[in-house]
Amino acid sequence: MQGLFHHCILQIALDTPLNAIFDYRWHCDAAEQPQVGQLALVPFGRREVMGLIVGVAAETDVPVDKLKDALAVRSQLGPLSPQWLALAGFAADYYQRPLGEVALPGLPKNLRVLTTVALDRALKKLAKLDAPHDGTPLNMPQLNPSQQAAADAIGGAQGFKPTLLYGVTGSGKTEVYLQSCAQVLARDADAQILILVPEINLTPQLEGNIRARFPGVMLATLHSSLSEGERMLHWLAAHQGKARIVLGTRLAILASLPNLKLIVIDEEHDPSYKQQEGLRYSARDLAVWRAWQLGIPIVLGSATPSLESWHHAQSGRYRKLELRERAVKDAVLPQVKLLDMERDKPKDGLTSHLIAAIRQRMERGEQSLLFLNRRGYAPVICCESCGWISECTRCTSFMVLHRPEHRLRCHHCSLEMRIPRHCPTCGNVDLQPLGRGTQRVEEGLQAMFPEARVLRIDADSTRKKGSAQAAFDTVHRGEVDILIGTQMVAKGHDFKRLTLVGILNPDTALFSQDYRASERLFAQLMQVAGRAGRAARTEGGSASEVLIQTRYPQHPLYGAVVNHDYDHFASALLEEREQAALPPYLFQALLRAEAPELATAIEFLTIARDCVEHPGITINDPIPMSMTRVHNVDRAQLLVESASRPMLQAFLREWLLTLREMKSRVKWSLEVDPLDI
Ligand code: ADP
Ligand code: ZN
Ligand code: ZN
Repeated sequence: MQGLFHHCILQIALDTPLNAIFDYRWHCDAAEQPQVGQLALVPFGRREVMGLIVGVAAETDVPVDKLKDALAVRSQLGPLSPQWLALAGFAADYYQRPLGEVALPGLPKNLRVLTTVALDRALKKLAKLDAPHDGTPLNMPQLNPSQQAAADAIGGAQGFKPTLLYGVTGSGKTEVYLQSCAQVLARDADAQILILVPEINLTPQLEGNIRARFPGVMLATLHSSLSEGERMLHWLAAHQGKARIVLGTRLAILASLPNLKLIVIDEEHDPSYKQQEGLRYSARDLAVWRAWQLGIPIVLGSATPSLESWHHAQSGRYRKLELRERAVKDAVLPQVKLLDMERDKPKDGLTSHLIAAIRQRMERGEQSLLFLNRRGYAPVICCESCGWISECTRCTSFMVLHRPEHRLRCHHCSLEMRIPRHCPTCGNVDLQPLGRGTQRVEEGLQAMFPEARVLRIDADSTRKKGSAQAAFDTVHRGEVDILIGTQMVAKGHDFKRLTLVGILNPDTALFSQDYRASERLFAQLMQVAGRAGRAARTEGGSASEVLIQTRYPQHPLYGAVVNHDYDHFASALLEEREQAALPPYLFQALLRAEAPELATAIEFLTIARDCVEHPGITINDPIPMSMTRVHNVDRAQLLVESASRPMLQAFLREWLLTLREMKSRVKWSLEVDPLDI
C-alpha cells in the first residue's frame, strides 16, 4: 500500500535546443497531484529553470543516481489545457523545434522566474477583478446589407469555418468583426474571442472601439510593449477565461484561451504575422490550425488577401465573403493616378503635380499623406571626387545618413558614427547625400510649405514609448496638414480628414528578385491608398486622390492599382505561380547557415544537401543570402522544396536529426514556409 506521500516522475519540457523531455522525481502529495500542463521549477545543469509538465508517470528509465528532484510545482496556477498543449505540440512539430522552445517562451516572463511573488500578486489582483460579465453591445451602428450578411455568416457559424472576408479598404470590416463578436458572446456566456492585428500601432484604435461597444466585457491585450506586470495580468485573465476578448499582435496566437470560440485575423495578408527570428512561425497559419483543432469559426480579413488565402478561397477550402463598397455613406474609393517622373521631374522628391495637389489640400484644410518606405535622411553619402560611399564595415549595406541626429547608422547591425567631415579616402570635404528618406522629404516639405504643419511618423520619430500613439492622435485631431511616413502609417488607420495620398518612390520593389515582391508591393500600395477618402465628401471638398510617382507608368502592377483590381491581379499572379511551380502550389523550407567566412557556411550547406536521400524533395544549391554579411557574419541559404507538404515535413524531421548529429560549429537554423527568400 502506498502512503500519503510517494514518488512520481514528472516529464518536463524545457526551453532548450535539445529535442528532449526530461524526467524529474517529485514527492507526490496524494491531495495535490501535479497535473500535465502545470509549470515546475527544476534544476538543469547549474541553473534552476521553469519547465512544463507534459507527463506524470510512475517510473522512468533514468537510473536513480542520475535522477534529480523537481524543486517546485506551481500548483496555484491552473494547468494549461490539453488543447493548448496540442497547439504548442503542433507548432513544435510543424516548425521543427523542440516543444519546450515553443511552449515556454510564449509564457509571461514573470511566470518563469524563481519566485512566485509576481504570480501571487497577479492572481490576487485578478481575484478582486471579478466584474460581472455582460456581453450586450452598445451603440452598434446599422450595418449595410453586405456587412450584415458577413456578420451573420461569421457570428452564426458553427464548427470549423474559415472565412475570408475580402472587403475593400474602408468597407467596414471592423464593424463586421464586432457584430460577429456580439453574436458569439450573446450565444455563449463563457465564450472567448481572439482578435489579431498585424501592428502594435493598430491596437489602440481597435481597443477603443471594443471597449466602447462592449463595456461589460473584460478585454485583455497582448503585445510586446506591455510591461511584464501587465503582460502577466492580461495573460492570466485570458488563461482563467475571464478576459472574453483578447486583442493582440502575432505573439497572442499562443495565448491560453480555455473557451476560445472565434478567431479574427485582421489584415491577414500582412507579413508581420510571420515571426522573423527564433521560432519563425506564421501566426495566421497557426490560427487556422487552432480553429480547426477546436472546431470553431475563424475569419481572415483583408482588402488584399495573401495569395495563399485567396487560393484557398478559390478552391472552396475557405468561404469567401465580399464587401465591395465603402461603409461610410458617400465615401468612395480614391482615384488613383500615375505621375510619370520622366516627364515631370521631381524637385525635392516631389513632382510638380503632387506639389500642386498638396497645395490644394492645404487651401481646403484637408490632410495629405506622403508615403516613402525609407527612413533616415539619405540612404547613403558619397564623395563626388573619388567615389567613396558610406558602406557599413560590418554588413553588405550602407550607412544611412540621419541628419537631425548628425549620425550615420547601419539599419542592419546598428553601427553608428558621426558624419565624417571629409572623405575618409581622399580628404574631400564635400560629401553629398544620395537619394532620400523620410527626413529629407520632411525638410523639403517644410521649405516648400513654410506655413504647413508637417509631421513625420517612422521608427525614428516614434522611439519613445507612447510617442507613436501621440503622433497618430495629432493626425486624428486635425493638427497636421502633411503627414510623411513609412509603412507605419500605411496600414489600418482610419484617418478621417485625409483626401490625398502621395506615393513617392515605389519602383525599386518592381525589380526585386524575390517572387513575393510584387504581391507585397501591390498590397502595400492598395493599403496606403486606402487611407484616403474614408469620410463622406464634404461640400466643396476635394475628391480623394492617390498619386503614384513612377518611372514605369506602363507597368501592369500599377495598372491594377489604378483600377483597384485585386481580383485580376491575384488571378494573374496565381497563374504565374502555378506555372513556375511556386507557393502556394509548392511547399518550401529554408536552411540558413552563418559563419565568419562565407565559404564555411556554404560548405556546411553543401554537406547538409548531400547527407540524406530525398525522394520527392528538391534541394537547391547553397547560395549566399542577398544581404550576405550582417554584423561581421556571412550568411548563406539552402532552399528545399516539395509538391507535398507531408513529404516535406517527413523529410525535414529526418534531415534535422542528421544535421544535429553533425555537431557543426556553424550556426544554422531551419525555417518552414519562409517568406523572404
Ligand atoms: P476597413 O477595416 O474595412 O478598412 P473600417 O472598419 O475602418 O474599414 O471602417 C471604415 C469606416 O467606416 C469607419 O470609420 C467606420 O466607423 C465606418 N463604418 C463602418 N461600418 C459602417 C456602417 N454600417 N455605417 C456607417 N459607417 C460605418
Ligand atoms: Zn573621396
Ligand atoms: Zn551594419
